[in-house]
Amino acid sequence: MSEQHTVELSIPEIEADNLGYFRWGRIAGQVLVTNDAAEWAFFSEDEFAELITGKIGEGHSRFDECKEKGLVREGFDLDGFALKVAQRNRHVRRGPYLHILTLTRRSDGEVDMSSETAQQIADLALHSMSPAMTFLFQGDGADPLQNFTMLKELVETVQDRNTQTVGKTLRFVVASNLTAMTEEIAEWMISHDVILRTDLDGPAKVHDANRETLGGVTHADAARWIEHFNKRYVDLGRDPKEAHVDVRLAVTRNTLEAARAVVDEYVERGIRTIHLQPLSAARFDDDTWASIGYSADEYLGFYRNTLDYILELNGRGVDVSEGTATAYLTKILTTEDPGIVDLQSPNGAGTCQLAYDVDGRVFPCEEARVLAAAGDSSFELGPVNELSCAEIVRHPTVRALAAASLLDAQPMWADCWYKPFSGVSAVRTFIEQGDIFGQRHRSTECRGHEAILTHLFEKLANQDDTSVAEVLKRWAETRPPLADDRRLAPF
Ligand code: SF4
Repeated sequence: MSEQHTVELSIPEIEADNLGYFRWGRIAGQVLVTNDAAEWAFFSEDEFAELITGKIGEGHSRFDECKEKGLVREGFDLDGFALKVAQRNRHVRRGPYLHILTLTRRSDGEVDMSSETAQQIADLALHSMSPAMTFLFQGDGADPLQNFTMLKELVETVQDRNTQTVGKTLRFVVASNLTAMTEEIAEWMISHDVILRTDLDGPAKVHDANRETLGGVTHADAARWIEHFNKRYVDLGRDPKEAHVDVRLAVTRNTLEAARAVVDEYVERGIRTIHLQPLSAARFDDDTWASIGYSADEYLGFYRNTLDYILELNGRGVDVSEGTATAYLTKILTTEDPGIVDLQSPNGAGTCQLAYDVDGRVFPCEEARVLAAAGDSSFELGPVNELSCAEIVRHPTVRALAAASLLDAQPMWADCWYKPFSGVSAVRTFIEQGDIFGQRHRSTECRGHEAILTHLFEKLANQDDTSVAEVLKRWAETRPPLADDRRLAPF
């Protein structure tokens, strides 16, 4: 026979008229309150009860902070608050700033981008309103350096036109697997400020095992080229903090089992930022994914442990940061936007990011281009020679993606206390759920955001030991001015 218990619950008298608009949740035994200006604060349960019942007023120890952050109406600075919200959302009026060009494709026969297409892309991109932009060159199933002729032509044309008439801040990045790298190409890249992004997947055992499946050069060759570039920068008197190879890490099942060794390899090689990012299952066939892939939970467990190890090293005086955490922390701890299109609401597909296939077809994001390569052109915007930047941002597909990724408008997403620091890609939601709107509880991307943000806020909540929070603050404050990553941790 079951026993009956009675629990008495008292409903607090919420003074809604005295409160600013905020969302809240419980983290690490405290209540986290956040609002649309990305202001946040932790409260004890008692303090939170005082807040919502209107007892935090003039003279209360938390009043000034609540007033300044817009959590209470008394003394609420509407103009100041509106300014902060506008600053947080300025990506919506900035114009496309991340242009991803696929220079060569080998997956369905050899195709290289033509000179005519490259010129049309340069034209379109330079007409973006954005005062700064990144051109990211990649290959599909191949090294983009196989089409070095076009890379050279495009970079030199854009640089010339920019100097003569346009005057934007430009950044060029080549994501190369190094199979087509030569000393001449390296020298040209260094002299034209073209950044090399390449993979080093950890120690030789892990890297070489990964590369059998993912392609690319051996560990020895990757390490040699990274050293070659970095040494040349130093020889030319460049500051290694500013000029260095952007080293990335493909996290496979091998990596999960060797996390500490991977971090140690980076530290030993003087690489100061480790970018932890899961592979996207959508890019692999079932057999390959079965051998190198993992579940979302496995990845997130790995992420937490590896981040903790990186923080432990910082505690021992080692200067090394983690890129994904730094992007979130920039949103949490500064007033800046790290420029990660997938951490924006609405998501920056088509408004901040554009992807161009070898043949000049334009897509709102790289995932849409990959989807089209797999046979589904739902998100194709049209050929580059028939579009202008203004037409793209007003394109019905881009508008639909923006509406579907505006977190304020989605059930459950709108109430989430992580909303100011988060975002979803409507294209990835479509790939996962068959619907650009999707549902929060089925979204792997959301699960990733939630897990990582919870981990970070737990560290920021720790009042007994603030040393970790100090490290996290330092990462946020010394981040690069504009990141060009299109996507972040969640799958
Ligand atoms: S994606 Fe998930 S974690 Fe981020 S705001 Fe939406 S519901 Fe919250």
